[in-house]
Order: sequence, then structure tokens, then C-alpha cells
Amino acid sequence: MPYRAPVTDYQFLFRHVAGFDQIAGTEKFSEASDDVVDAILTEAGKMCEEVMSPLQRPGDLEPARLENGVVRTSPGYSEGWKAISEGGWIGMSGDPEYGGMGLPMTVTTAVNEMMSAACLSLQLAPLMSQGQIEAMEHHASDAIKELFLPKLMSGEWSGTMNLTEPQAGSDVGALSSKAVDNGDGSYSVTGQKIYISWGDNDFASNVCHLVLARLPDGVPGTKGISLFIVPKHLPDDNGEAGVANSLKVVSLEHKMGLHGSPTCVMQFDGAKGWLVGKEHGGMAAMFTMMNNARLGVGGQGVGVAEGAYQHALAYALERKQGKTPSGTIVDHADVRRMLMSMKADVFASRAILLNCAAAIDMQTATGDAEWAARAAFLTPIAKAFGTETGMRVAETGVQVHGGMGFIEETGAAQFYRDVRVTAIYEGTNGIQAMDLVARKMMDGGEAAAKLLDEIEDHAERARATVPELAGPVWEATETLREATEWLVAQGDLNERFAGAVPYLQAFARVLGGHYHLVAAMADPAGPREKLARFYINALLPEHAGLLAQAQNGSADVYGLTIDELVA
Ligand SMILES: Cc1cc2nc3c(=O)[nH]c(=O)nc-3n(C[C@H](O)[C@H](O)[C@H](O)COP(=O)(O)OP(=O)(O)OC[C@H]3O[C@@H](n4cnc5c(N)ncnc54)[C@H](O)[C@@H]3O)c2cc1C
Repeated sequence: MPYRAPVTDYQFLFRHVAGFDQIAGTEKFSEASDDVVDAILTEAGKMCEEVMSPLQRPGDLEPARLENGVVRTSPGYSEGWKAISEGGWIGMSGDPEYGGMGLPMTVTTAVNEMMSAACLSLQLAPLMSQGQIEAMEHHASDAIKELFLPKLMSGEWSGTMNLTEPQAGSDVGALSSKAVDNGDGSYSVTGQKIYISWGDNDFASNVCHLVLARLPDGVPGTKGISLFIVPKHLPDDNGEAGVANSLKVVSLEHKMGLHGSPTCVMQFDGAKGWLVGKEHGGMAAMFTMMNNARLGVGGQGVGVAEGAYQHALAYALERKQGKTPSGTIVDHADVRRMLMSMKADVFASRAILLNCAAAIDMQTATGDAEWAARAAFLTPIAKAFGTETGMRVAETGVQVHGGMGFIEETGAAQFYRDVRVTAIYEGTNGIQAMDLVARKMMDGGEAAAKLLDEIEDHAERARATVPELAGPVWEATETLREATEWLVAQGDLNERFAGAVPYLQAFARVLGGHYHLVAAMADPAGPREKLARFYINALLPEHAGLLAQAQNGSADVYGLTIDELVA
């Protein structure tokens, strides 16, 4: 089934749920008027429907392959990259001084989500470039910016992110790649990186790797890591891709899904590179890229959820089985339950994603510390809940298809296989949840409390019109507040970590209830209110069970000894 870009949903969310008028009201984003944003979303949606969506299946059937050390991409991907580049979709939020459009992250997030729904494997390529662009804008010297940024934004060159090594996955600080100062402003980087997305391709004339490595005087752990930009081809005197650098793709991984995206083992043998940020300041620079990528990966989950929902709905509207008013399975109560859950969760996760992006924009535009705290707090939730929604909705999509969901031709299974990795990369969802309950609560729970206050204030106001919806949202928020206070009171972080994942899920459930309530208020008695009613009555109650788990502490988790686990 062809993908239909949900442009009207975005327009509604921008106007009523994500507070986009506030963003457009700032001097920094004053050009992002409704008309401009509508035109951008429509144009991007068209590209996703017409160019990217047809590439989804070919990428699965004919994966990227390694031929004589060069990656050959799936059929049509080269044209897809060209369309993404020429549309300006890579540098959407990039600095106009270097060829970007300077648009709010909220708009970029919407476009990225649509691209993910249309073809996740290919969308990962511009997402990597965007993360690299942002890291360099914030941390690279002017000379490096001038050399790399215009070409990355135009798509002439592409970008990658090289953190992971066999012994350094979640524990990035365990990396062993090394760098030495060449004494001429450049460095030589040596080491092996694994799982590098889009580590090579045959459509950009250069591939630029951001690589984490340790200088000889770098201390062990994350504090001793530095970040380098290491291109496949060294720029010549004119800044064009010149001679080959000392690096190569050793092999490609065979994966469960995401076959169109080459996942590379990379070898750097004294490859020439330049420092981005300060010596030993690599993690600070990398965090800029990772925060950007976390929001982007959350958007990948939401995008796949949208694609899987559309797919399942189309099947349900055609498949005849049993006696129903319409003659198709769409009228069976259980099928309706599945479709409503999918649609309601797509809305909730998209609303969280866009509100996180909006907080980033407000932080950028105003420099206000409260917006920064809000953005930092919402980022792990947007990443983990977005990707969990992607997995859950894609899995339900398989179920809606019955046996045909298990048969590859329908494409239902591909959504599930492709999206599975989004809960793993960019910091596993477990790591996101630990970040939420530890680092993001170092303020004693202040950022969380402010958000909960806002939700309760809104629910109080909504009581006058929709008390049956506002009441449960208010009560769920109170339960969440109690759980948050319990977490903050736990001095032993392991007590928090043991229930971090259910806590994050419960927080997302309550946020989803809030945003559904906001939507219901903007569309009284309309489809959005009806969807909100389903979410608040059927899905929001999950928060109670999740919060019970969140406050159970660590004793039961460690109840069995390792020997007893094995027995
Ligand atoms: C398809 C694909 C593409 C990727 N692309 C890139 C890329 O472009 N660049 C890049 O650098 N990397 C990339 N990665 C790597 C990815 O980011 C890592 O796989 C991920 O960070 C997890 O690391 P790991 O695989 O070593 O798992 P581990 O770190 O070994 O984790 C295994 C399990 O242990 C848990 N765990 C680990 N440490 C802790 C802890 N302290 N507390 C609690 N639980 C913990 C994890 O949550 C997980 O459940 C990619 C991976 C894949 C599969």
C-alpha cells in the first residue's frame, strides 16, 4: 500500500499541541510562518510518497553489498539520496551561513519522521549527516566548518558517527581507538569501529566520519576521549574530495532488518583527521550529535508506526472474514481495538516527539535554561517511547494481517524487522530510562515537577468541558508525581535503575494522555476527541501497573542468584 504523508496531522499538532506559534513568534524563527511550514510539509510529504516509499521494498530484497571494498547501495537509493539532497532536506535546520535553511527543529523532526515512514533504511543516511552537521556547527573550528558543512548540507558529501567498538558499546568510555598529533594541525587515527551505519555508499563523493578516539595523554574513561573528523577522501587545495585516506570498510553486518542501510565494520589505519572540539572534550561534542540523533531515532519509531498503521488499516478494509456490516474484518471488535490502539499511540508518541523538538527550538531561540531543562528531560522519553511505539504498532500490524502478516510479500513484517534496532541504537532504551531517572533528576526532580504542574493545570481547566477525560489525566499525573518523589528520594541509584524502564513508559503514557486531552479540547466531539477518549479510557490506565513496577526497588530484581538464574 502506498504511503500517505500525514501532513494534516502535523498541521493540527503544530497549531494546537506543540505550541508552534510560540516558536514562530521568536526573532530567530520569525520566517517560519504557517504558510511557509505548510508548503514545506506538503513538499516533503510529496517526496516521501513519490520517491522514498517505492524504495522501501527494494532495499529489503536487495540489501547494500560490499564489492571490492566499496559499498554498492540498493536499487534506486542513489536517486533517493539525490531527491533528499536537492530538496534541501539534509540541511533544513542547518546554519544558513553554510547553506542550511535555518528552520526550527520541529519542522525537521516532522520531515524526518515522514522520510522514516517511507523508507527507514535510506532515511538513516541523512539523519547521520544531520547529527554530524550539528556537532560541527557547535564544536568545530571555522576552517573545518567552511570545508565540510556546505558539502554535508548539500548532500554532495555524507556523514557518519563512529563510537562503537567490540568492547565499547553502551560503555563508550571503554574504547581503544587512538589518535596522535601530526604536529601540522592534523591527527592520525587508528582503530576498528563496528556497526557503523552508512559507513560507505556509492552516491556521495565523500564520506565523512566523526570518530571518537583517545590521544596518548587521554585518561581512561569518557573524560579522555577526543572527537575527530576523518574523511574517506582528503580534501584537496580546492576543498574537493582528493586522495583516498587510510581507512576502509572491512565487512557489512547481516541483519534482522534495515537491509538497505549498510552497517559497516570500519578500519582506520593512521587515517588523517582533524579535531572537533577540544582535546579530551570528545564526549561533550559527541553529546550534541547524540541528542540530535536521539530525537531523530525517536522520530524513526513514530514514522514506522505511522507506516505500519496505514498498511494494516488498508488490509483490514479489504480482508473479508466472518459476517460484519462492512463485510471486512475492520468491523470486528478486536481488529478495531488493534487499529484504535495503533492510531492513538501514533498520536501520543508524535506529540511527545514534537513537544521535545519545540523545547529544543525555544532553547535555541531564547537561551532560556528552563527550555533547556525541558528539552533535556523530554529527549530520552521521545527516543524510548517513539521507538517502543514503532515496535508495538508494527507488531500489532502483523497481527491485523493474520497469516499474511507472517508472509513477507505484504510488507507488514518488514516494518517490524526494520524498526527493531531503533530501540537498541543511539543508546538502548534501557540506557535512556537510566538517563531519565539519574542525570535528568539531578535537579531533585524539578524539571519533572514543572511538567507535571503544567499537565495538572491544564487538566483542571479541561474539567469544565470534558470532566470524564480531564479527571483521569489529573489523577494519573498525581500518581506519577508520587512515583517521581519516591524515585528522587532513593539515594542508591540502583533502586531507581531497577524500575527505570517502566517509569519512563508510565511518564510517556501520562504525557500521551495530556496531549490527547489538549487535542480533544481543540476538536470538541470530533475525531480527535473520540481518539482521546479511547486513549484515556483504554491505554492511560497502564500507567498504574507500570508505576507499581517502577517503585518496586531492586531487591526482587536481584532475588535469584546467578546460579539460580542458570538452574
Ligand atoms: C544496525 C545498527 C546500527 C548501528 N549504527 C551505529 C553507528 O552508526 N555508530 C555507532 O557508533 N554505533 C552504531 N550502532 C551500535 C549501537 O549504538 C550499539 O549496539 C548500542 O549502543 C548498544 O551497544 P552494544 O551493542 O555493545 O550492547 P551492550 O552495551 O553490550 O548492551 C547489551 C545489553 O546490556 C544493557 N546494558 C549495557 N550497559 C548497561 C548499564 N550500564 N546499565 C544497564 N544496562 C546496560 C543494554 O541496555 C543491553 O540491553 C549500531 C548498531 C546496530 C545494531
